[in-house]
Amino acid sequence: MTNNIEETPTQRDFFARPDAEQSDFLAQTWCNNCMEMDLGMKNPKEFESDHRIWIEGECVKCGSQVITEIVYEDEE
Ligand SMILES: [Zn+2]
Repeated sequence: MTNNIEETPTQRDFFARPDAEQSDFLAQTWCNNCMEMDLGMKNPKEFESDHRIWIEGECVKCGSQVITEIVYEDEE
């Protein structure tokens, strides 16, 4: 099924993740503005829509929005 309707993301609790995961996600970033990876992010917010989970935050260096998509294998 394909559709292009806008998904409504649900906000999740990033801080419910284990500390090790939190620090990994906060460290492993790509900033489109700095064009550099692993600068880090602050103020993380985690979102979920149908089959995607991602974390939005601000680049530690420049403050631009950075997004880290979390890819899960199918496992329930
Ligand atoms: Zn940046």
